[in-house]
Amino acid sequence: MAKLLAAVLAVVLAALAAGTATGMLSAEIDDGMPLIHMLRPLLHSSGHLGRLGGVPCDSWRFAVETDTLRDWETVPARCEKYVGNYMLGGQYRSDSQAVVDEAVAYAEGLKLSGDGKEVWVFDVDETTLSNLPYYAEHGFGSEPYNSTAFGAYTKLANAPALPETQRLYKRLQELGIKPVILTGRREDKRESTAKNLADVGYTGYEKLLLKPQDARVTAVEFKSGERKKLVDAGYVIVGNIGDQWTDLLGEPEGDRTFKLPDPMYYVG
Ligand SMILES: [Mg+2]
Repeated sequence: MAKLLAAVLAVVLAALAAGTATGMLSAEIDDGMPLIHMLRPLLHSSGHLGRLGGVPCDSWRFAVETDTLRDWETVPARCEKYVGNYMLGGQYRSDSQAVVDEAVAYAEGLKLSGDGKEVWVFDVDETTLSNLPYYAEHGFGSEPYNSTAFGAYTKLANAPALPETQRLYKRLQELGIKPVILTGRREDKRESTAKNLADVGYTGYEKLLLKPQDARVTAVEFKSGERKKLVDAGYVIVGNIGDQWTDLLGEPEGDRTFKLPDPMYYVG
């Protein structure tokens, strides 16, 4: 009992310390909303600022990640710091880890044919590669998308890998499932994309599929069309992972889809 009390006290003290550090006042805890859990105010995940002028930022992110909020152009200005904290703090990595843990468990449970035809589709941006170095300099998605600036960044070919995706990639290769990389980046980015992928350890993939330079199709049309070609060529898409719903929607989707977090931008 004494241990339990000590543990509860430690949690409360840590939460109070965190609240002080972030400028949280006790008055802010009571915002008139009925509490459904005593720890709710201590989590303090969206922040008082996040409530100014709209829904709290964690609720905004929930709507984004569930494909409820669509066709949004930028992160709301009031949520820039929230998204920055989410991306650079532990939560983004923890959420990515939860997705990849499930993907690995699923893959390890598959009964493979052994004919080498099973593939797993990977997206590039915010999936195999992380563009956080770019977005950290551009308001974490609160600034309008700038294709010139982002294009110049991708040409540098120095984006880091998202470590969680890399773990999945390597494990699939051990299991005998071949990665296929399918990106909305256009053909003029093939060389820099291939270099970037290779430099951070993504090697041995079956295909690297980019959008034709002059294609005027939506992301879903392009990506589902490429997956259809894979299936028609005899491949079995056992899994499909991406950070955008447009990576995952559209027949054939793959036997299972895995959605990584990305509250920084929306690709329609
Ligand atoms: Mg992506």
